[in-house]
Amino acid sequence: MMYEIEPHLYLSNITAAKNQQLLQQNIISIVLTVDAQPLGGSGGEIENIYIEMNDDLKTNLVEKLPQCIDVIEDCVMEKRNILVHCHAGVSRSASVVIAYVMKSRGLSLRHASDHVKSRKQDVMPNPCFMYQLQVFEKMGCKLEKESTFYKELMVKFDQQEKISQAINAGDYWSIKEQESASNNNKEIKKRITYKCRSCRILLFTSEALSEDHAENAKECTSLYLLEPLDWMKKAMNADIQGKINCFKCSGKLGMFNWSGRTCSCGMWITPSFQVQKSRVDHSFPK
Ligand SMILES: [Zn+2]
Ligand SMILES: [Zn+2]
Repeated sequence: MMYEIEPHLYLSNITAAKNQQLLQQNIISIVLTVDAQPLGGSGGEIENIYIEMNDDLKTNLVEKLPQCIDVIEDCVMEKRNILVHCHAGVSRSASVVIAYVMKSRGLSLRHASDHVKSRKQDVMPNPCFMYQLQVFEKMGCKLEKESTFYKELMVKFDQQEKISQAINAGDYWSIKEQESASNNNKEIKKRITYKCRSCRILLFTSEALSEDHAENAKECTSLYLLEPLDWMKKAMNADIQGKINCFKCSGKLGMFNWSGRTCSCGMWITPSFQVQKSRVDHSFPK
């Protein structure tokens, strides 16, 4: 099955990309492969362009979008049909097609992705790609390596890399201890305190929270800790994801996920140590 997203632009998976009959039926003249491996083996009259791309949380999609979009633009302008595909036609190739629609039609990410989904319902970029499409939108559908949005993305990749290395080496906590030792002489600011709603024990202060989700900073039902607190360590073990419970009464507070999560407000958080606002009471400094 092949899905026409825009005139001359088709989206599908590897099975369709290898189906000569289907390619001929849709008069495809270029196949753009965004996958971990080249398509291989077709030959014939159909041109195949390969751009290497993995479907994971550390692939820099934004960096590859301009090249992919150029290929599609050239082809559509010449009124030739192009098929963009990856393995499943759900995450990588769909992200490329969404980015192209966003740019060529001047649509917001939301509208572009709704449009693509209206043509192919199972489209679902992975959370990291979704976040990068947001970055691409903010950069005006261009790659602006000097923009703050791109720099923030690089910081996230960096953090993720460091964390996964540390987890693999089993020494995440010792790195954290070194960092906090060097931060000891930080000025103590006025801070909001957060207590467990069930047992009233003090859990953390606003200093431990990520600023983009701090109290009143965002309409959202969640708060995010910058890093796991000492009392969480024992319960977390070496797990990649799990629950965060109150250390005193064991009441549920939220969830952690080292690979990150998409918040209910649409923001991608990585790593994610989420606390539901409804599970804690806050009080402002006197
Ligand atoms: Zn409690
Ligand atoms: Zn949120």
